[in-house]
Amino acid sequence: MDQRIVEDIIKKVMAQMGTPEGASGKGFSEKKTCDESLPVELSGRHVHLCDEDIKELFGAPLTHVKELSQPGQYLCKERVRLIGPSGVIDNVAILGPSRPKSQVELSLTDARILGMKVPVRQSGDVAGTPGIVLTSGSGLAGLEEGVIVAARHIHMSPADAATFGVFDNQKVDVHMDGTRPAVFKDVVVRVNPNFKLAMHIDFDEANSCGLGKNARGRIVGVTQEA
Ligand SMILES: [Zn+2]
Repeated sequence: MDQRIVEDIIKKVMAQMGTPEGASGKGFSEKKTCDESLPVELSGRHVHLCDEDIKELFGAPLTHVKELSQPGQYLCKERVRLIGPSGVIDNVAILGPSRPKSQVELSLTDARILGMKVPVRQSGDVAGTPGIVLTSGSGLAGLEEGVIVAARHIHMSPADAATFGVFDNQKVDVHMDGTRPAVFKDVVVRVNPNFKLAMHIDFDEANSCGLGKNARGRIVGVTQEA
């Protein structure tokens, strides 16, 4: 083999391996806190309902079953059916408390099952998203909009944000320590004194890197400043 080609290959391999002591990194990767790992929690498909839709569907307040990791959030006993243009999904969880506006959070696989084109959005940002029909055993509610694929995000307190050196609404890169390791980009940092440290991804994302329970990730860079 031509010596130049060999040198070229060595150079490429060396570049891929990175320079010693992380010196190649700029900005974030130079911070010592980037090695702190964080818990990753898997969010299944679920809905948040407004009081009016709860009344239409169940005629009574929702029943609290189990606290969720984020303070104040809980799983309800009631379930709904999602009816899309070309499919239905049954037994979908409802998370409380009620919200000013109903919202349905799906994976892209779920959207395909229902026959819907669903955008990736942050929770609450539902303007212009598709609507859907929800049914219970006894009632029905039609949403004009509110179906989203939730943008992957990290909940953290201001103290956590200081530890990681990140800011509210910044988008970061997170290395997932699964059996098929991967780096997720555009992970939205959400800072609030009430939040408990946890990254939230859906099952499509978790399965793509072989993540299960007790999964962890590490912030390794910044995709986009806030
Ligand atoms: Zn979340």
